[in-house]
Amino acid sequence: MDQYAVVGNPIEHSKSPLIHALFAEQTGQQLEYGKLLAPLDGFEASVRDFLRTGLGVNVTVPFKEQAWALVDAHSAAAERAGAVNTILRREDGSLLGDNTDGKGLVRDIQVNAGLSLDGLNVLLVGAGGAARGVIQPLLAAGPAHLCVINRTVSKAEELAALFVDQGPIAAAGLQWLVEPVDLIINATSASLAGDVPPIPDSLIKPGHTWCYDMMYSSGETAFNQWAREHGAARCIDGLGMLVEQAAEAFALWRGVRPDTAPVLARLRQA
Ligand code: NDP
Repeated sequence: MDQYAVVGNPIEHSKSPLIHALFAEQTGQQLEYGKLLAPLDGFEASVRDFLRTGLGVNVTVPFKEQAWALVDAHSAAAERAGAVNTILRREDGSLLGDNTDGKGLVRDIQVNAGLSLDGLNVLLVGAGGAARGVIQPLLAAGPAHLCVINRTVSKAEELAALFVDQGPIAAAGLQWLVEPVDLIINATSASLAGDVPPIPDSLIKPGHTWCYDMMYSSGETAFNQWAREHGAARCIDGLGMLVEQAAEAFALWRGVRPDTAPVLARLRQA
């Protein structure tokens, strides 16, 4: 049986095995997909050992940058993102690294939620690994303007400088902008602690502004609660992004893209 796994630390919480099992069932692909707990100082050894027989891995926190350094070649998305979340072992044994997070986010917004990014004013809050991974696909979707705002302003400025040749991007501090925008994407880890990044309430135009939290949880995230209370037109969490990035990885490995809608519905039910 063809073997795949998600590697991270911690890894118990991962929904990837369930998602890929549902994809395999739906598409009639024969494969096994497990969880691989790598020691914090042993990522490379764990992955190389698994890929002696395994055909691919997904990579999650905190190893995406190490995965970028490990592979022999990068997709254009991974090259720009500086991080890899999907590794494919090719027929000649070499390792290809891709980053499907950005494609997953854009697809969740545009296809699942039905919001075209074309011509929108978009605010990306946060300048860590997740933000960096989604900037190129966001700019490729044609927003009028993308502003990266971050608690540590220098990190937002560094990110904007990296992507300035890709589209209309700028950087600012969390409190610098006050005018409403069309879409706010929370790519900070603040929700993990139940916090909301301190951004002005006036960024939300009631009934108009959409809000997207990359984080997901069984209940409403802190950011989406803040957004709802300030009248956001729509609040979306990151579960759809998780399923869409997984579908991109599945397509890279198996050559067939699963239908994500029933899988997302099943996860929401669970
Ligand atoms: P990083 O640790 O790389 O970056 C964290 C970012 O959050 C930094 O910009 C940091 O600012 C900011 N931050 C943290 N706490 C606060 C706070 N209290 N107020 C304001 N800003 C804060 O994390 P990642 O980029 O890897 O992950 C970010 C989020 O994205 C996580 O919630 C993760 O779960 C989610 N994610 C979801 C995915 C999905 O498929 N749905 C995929 C990947 C990530 P500073 O630079 O100043 O420290």
